[in-house]
Amino acid sequence: MQISLIVPCYNEEEALPIFYKEATAVLTGMDCDYELLFVNDGSRDGTLPLLKELASRDPHVIYLSFSRNFGKEAAMYAGFCNAKGDYIAVMDADMQDPPSLLPQMLEILQSGEYDSVATHRADRAGEPPMRSWFARKFYRIINKISDADIVDGARDFRLMTRDMVDAICAMGEYNRFSKGIFGWVGFRTYWLPYENVERVAGQTKWSFWKLFKYAVDGIINFSQVPLSIASWSGIGLTVLAAFSLLFIVIRRLIFGDPVSGWASTISVIIFIGGIQLFCLGIMGQYIAKTYLETKRRPHFIISESNGHTVTKIK
Ligand code: UDP
Ligand code: MG
Repeated sequence: MQISLIVPCYNEEEALPIFYKEATAVLTGMDCDYELLFVNDGSRDGTLPLLKELASRDPHVIYLSFSRNFGKEAAMYAGFCNAKGDYIAVMDADMQDPPSLLPQMLEILQSGEYDSVATHRADRAGEPPMRSWFARKFYRIINKISDADIVDGARDFRLMTRDMVDAICAMGEYNRFSKGIFGWVGFRTYWLPYENVERVAGQTKWSFWKLFKYAVDGIINFSQVPLSIASWSGIGLTVLAAFSLLFIVIRRLIFGDPVSGWASTISVIIFIGGIQLFCLGIMGQYIAKTYLETKRRPHFIISESNGHTVTKIK
């Protein structure tokens, strides 16, 4: 039995040595074969030389290095497509996903009742209140309007069986939102809560704005509801307009036509214009996604590696 640990790394030269030490300690204690599959996502610091150095010393270390930064989603996908283990885990390099949970996770999977053990943060302590508020709203909305079943505070850190990973690899979409994909493929998932930990070294790569865009992307990738909002608001406004037209005609017949209401006319025009642009914008978002999907570009390009690489292109 073999475990593959997939570790996306983007500028992690400070955190990597700590991670490598911890993970190796945990894995050697687990009495099974393992591979550490590092995906260097176009880091601009010393991450790649460090990975090469680790690989030269330790045959468990495999690295894939991207030709540029393709994002964590692409890095995870590259990992899934290349992992050879029977059980496969994704983990951040910054120790926010404690490797010490692995033995417990493996035990749950080996009981045969579950296909995946996922983690979610037990609380949101230490996070800016505004970010927490948006995060909670995001989970409420996406669960309501899509098939992507996501628990609040879900992390990408999880251990999965080969079958589940094969299902994930088969989802070759270009716009990837892994939290949604994990839920969409189904399988029996055990949710393991744990205390949130701060990253050990280096900086987070997520600004509030990046997170916000990620959330909007997640919704658009997994739900058509925004499109229906656009059409329903169109229908609603048409009905409203029909009634007001009727009202105006009747008023004209009864009271004549005193010229007034210029300001209100203009505000109605601007309001409708705004709604129209908003709906066009929603449609644009979907069209843009379709455009990217139809190009069928590779999800990532591997420029260097020491493993056998499956450069998955649909
Ligand atoms: N990461 C990556 N590509 C990116 C951004 C991040 O591979 O473009 C990796 C990063 O090296 C880390 C993980 O994804 O291992 C999570 O990143 P980070 O800790 O910055 O995110 P947070 O934990 O704050 O959500
Ligand atoms: Mg982190």
